Amino acid sequence: ELAIETRDLTKIYGSGNTEVVAMRNASMKVSVGEVVALLGPSGSGKSTFLTAVGLINPPTSGQVYIRGQLVLDGSTAHTNLRAFRRRHIGFVFQKSNLIPFLTAIENVQIAIELNGESSRAARRKAMELLDDLGVGDRAENRPSMLSGGQQQRVAVARALANNPSVILADEPTAALDSERGRQVMELFCQVAHEHGAGVIVVTHDHRALDVFDTTYEMEDGRMSPPTHTV
Ligand code: ADP
Ligand code: ADP
Repeated sequence: ELAIETRDLTKIYGSGNTEVVAMRNASMKVSVGEVVALLGPSGSGKSTFLTAVGLINPPTSGQVYIRGQLVLDGSTAHTNLRAFRRRHIGFVFQKSNLIPFLTAIENVQIAIELNGESSRAARRKAMELLDDLGVGDRAENRPSMLSGGQQQRVAVARALANNPSVILADEPTAALDSERGRQVMELFCQVAHEHGAGVIVVTHDHRALDVFDTTYEMEDGRMSPPTHTV
């Protein structure tokens, strides 16, 4: 079963002589439980691709399917994008982007409540996720009391809050040392398998590539064919 499929995504910024073709015919298939690394130099179109799949920055042309459903065709939405994004897509950023005045558990709980759960049910689920990711003992701490690696674990818990079909991570280990970075990458694999999500991680970190099932590389807006890790 496919979690994500993109067909021929193309993105053109600007027009006339300021036109930039940031992405050309980028196609990718990610199965449920598959963890994909997306590599490529700065300016190669990785963010453009990720924000198109994340339904934040629609492509100029091409299709995005999530769980087999056509969600975006060019800039035409086939569903309520905001609701669909909240339900199906979890984001993890370079910095954890946690809300500083909320505790770890509140940061996760609020994401669940926004999807319509009662506060009691949301709190229970948030605690399960934090336990699952090895930061249950940090539930009552604010982000500033946590290490970078712990903050990213909370951010991953938050991304999982609504059992998303897809997790998109933009350089999630950039601020971590290689040991912690590797642990966070391994966490994505655990999460993909246990929660049945497709995961795409944009990374410059070549040290942890062996944890990924599949690697794609962008160059000058073009997506390479997949390389499968053996
Ligand atoms: P990264 O390479 O880590 O994605 P960038 O510095 O390339 O970071 O881009 C940061 C943000 O600025 C992105 O949201 C990107 O879309 C936007 N951006 C990049 N290049 C341009 C540009 N030439 N004009 C306007 N916005 C840009
Ligand atoms: P990456 O994430 O690999 O660094 P981006 O997707 O951010 O690449 O950028 C791809 C190309 O698109 C770059 O040439 C960048 O300058 C350009 N670009 C990105 N965002 C914008 C924007 N908002 N406006 C104009 N050009 C942009």
